[in-house]
Amino acid sequence: MKKTLLLLSLVAAPAFAGEGKWTPQQVLELSPAWLKAQGLQLPPSKLWDPKRGTGLLAGTVNTGGCSGSFISASGLIITNHHCAFSIIQEHSSPQKDLITNGFLAKSQAEELPGKGSRVQVPRGFKDVTAEVNGAVPQGADDLARYKAIDRKQKELVAECEKRPATRCQVATFDGGVNYTLVDAVELQDVRLVYAPPRAVGEYGGEEDNWMWPRHTGDFAIIRAYTAPDGASAAFSDKNVPYKAEFFFPLSTEGVKPGDFVMVLGYPGTTFRTLLADEMAERQARYYPRIRDVLGEAIRILEAEGEKDPAGKIAVASQLKGLHNVYKNAGGQLAGLKRGHIVEKQRDAEAGTVAWAQKDAAKWGDALKAREALLAEQQESSKTFDREFLLNMSGRLARGPALATSVSRLAMERAKPDLERRPEYMDRELPRIKDRLEREQKNLFLAADKALLHAFVKRAQALPQDARIAAVDAAFGKTYSEKDVSAKIDSLYAGTKVLTLAERLKMADESVGQLAARRDPLLAFGMELAKEQAALDDTRDRRQGASSRLRPAWRKAVMAQAGKPIAPDANSTLRVSFAKVQGYTPRDGALYLPQTTLTGMMQKHTGEEPFNAPEKVRAAAAAKKFGQWADPRLKDVPVDFLADADTTGGNSGSPTVNGKGQLVGVNFDRVWENVANDFGYNPDVARNVNVDVRYLLWQLDQVEDADALLRELNIRKGKPVAKEAR
Ligand code: ASP
Repeated sequence: MKKTLLLLSLVAAPAFAGEGKWTPQQVLELSPAWLKAQGLQLPPSKLWDPKRGTGLLAGTVNTGGCSGSFISASGLIITNHHCAFSIIQEHSSPQKDLITNGFLAKSQAEELPGKGSRVQVPRGFKDVTAEVNGAVPQGADDLARYKAIDRKQKELVAECEKRPATRCQVATFDGGVNYTLVDAVELQDVRLVYAPPRAVGEYGGEEDNWMWPRHTGDFAIIRAYTAPDGASAAFSDKNVPYKAEFFFPLSTEGVKPGDFVMVLGYPGTTFRTLLADEMAERQARYYPRIRDVLGEAIRILEAEGEKDPAGKIAVASQLKGLHNVYKNAGGQLAGLKRGHIVEKQRDAEAGTVAWAQKDAAKWGDALKAREALLAEQQESSKTFDREFLLNMSGRLARGPALATSVSRLAMERAKPDLERRPEYMDRELPRIKDRLEREQKNLFLAADKALLHAFVKRAQALPQDARIAAVDAAFGKTYSEKDVSAKIDSLYAGTKVLTLAERLKMADESVGQLAARRDPLLAFGMELAKEQAALDDTRDRRQGASSRLRPAWRKAVMAQAGKPIAPDANSTLRVSFAKVQGYTPRDGALYLPQTTLTGMMQKHTGEEPFNAPEKVRAAAAAKKFGQWADPRLKDVPVDFLADADTTGGNSGSPTVNGKGQLVGVNFDRVWENVANDFGYNPDVARNVNVDVRYLLWQLDQVEDADALLRELNIRKGKPVAKEAR
């Protein structure tokens, strides 16, 4: 991090113990005495050694949108059931339904490869702020500024990725206060080892999602493989399990209230550094639109899925994701209101403004930067609705989304690699192709057509000065149910975009070749792609402005705070220090921090989402707890709460005790804490973890997974947990 940050962080401990998603570098800058007092028994240097570019934190992997961690030297990784869901779905069919029944590989030969699944193991972080800022030419306007920064980042990544199996990224912290080159080893052969039945992995389903008390066994185990010489390699029978230098041994002792834990992982995006007006727009417009548009998509997918069992499987993964975002948006709205978060940010901002005005010679630029950011915000909010809908075109109906993807790919490939949008550079091609292939499993025509219909209807209702031209051209300017249905039927009837082999060919074709196909859905996708490309240019300029303005303002905020501040989440590796504890969700109620198997059985109704599998019920009824009962609870512990500072992307994060042993796996936050993305509130900041003893109980007493338990160094009746290494 920059020097200013470093100096600040040396002077004090954080405001609230649990607050802060600390970078590995910041962990080393926090007071070791404070960390020890929290409960960290390892020296902080064991967590991360910046010289070697490794440490216990290197046991935490990025699984692409989720987190995971090594739990054995033989490449076993634990993550969430919902993070491994796409591999589970990939191998499921109505005849062999792994989603419903779960899966346990009895030997390595039975493990199931995940198409396009990858994990990244961190190897180093380098501050490149000076290089990135130095690349901006004098007098550059905002678009030129964006392009210069973008190009420099790509050059740094290209240099970093010259080593084999390396995946790099330049991460932007707090809008450009700091740029860090993140270096990771990418493993490409990842296989499913164990997934519980959905009725365990997702017990409580949407009803319990983002809620407490919880009884979900949201865990799955995968394994990374390499070539026999240890090099990262694509799937092959010859591959061998990855040798993990750092891993988290499973703790058989578990946790109790008050215990120290840390949650390590890759939190995605948070918004705590936004200005109050920027937050207010998310509250007033963004989340309500998400509720509206995604709510409709969910109703469509559920209704269509009910009519067709194969269709139901095809849309399962998409539906699950939509539900998660939909309910999250509700939680954000409720939490923003309840916690008066925007108002608090407004007050804090006014405080910083008043403070900065006292030394205008030093902070005048920061004050001007804030004003300019507010003006930018007002300008961009004028086109909010159109932009929102255009974004959604890639997320809902798969047909047009695939047509747009191949079109966009062709448009971008016509440019030199370094001038393309990052997501279409050559280094992304294998991923794009994997995605194009994997999507075949998600296709369900009836649902897809209905989703497109709903999208077109919304687009046709946009005001005259904010239209989506591609929709107007293909469907006309005014909505008619009959005409839209007929047009959609003809788009789908005449297209090859939904045929896997043809789609993969399209991925290699030029814009001219795609046009020559005269494929109607593809033609519609191409027009949408052009509008998306124009929108990206607008965003690039805004991004350039933000990188010019936001750092100046943030530096004033940090200087005024005079205490360490962890940057907003940006999908890079972070650590949160926490304690196991319950909370008060509302007046007069107190939530205990642990749930039990008996509590799970009390919720059982025999109907989804509370339909515990027969084997689990039988073991619970017979009190077959094995060695996994908690001595205090006298029951098998299922889930627990802590006050860790987490967000989406922390799913699958290892929850580790002070000795570096795995005591749980993070998978959610409580309802009252969803809006912590905008501000930390110690009263309700609780993350939800599955207790490792529940996993062990399932493996031992329900699944008889003796080989896996042996590999995890667990001997029945004789717990063994070594120090972390
Ligand atoms: N359940 C969340 C997720 O899906 C985790 C969280 O947001 O706390 O990523």
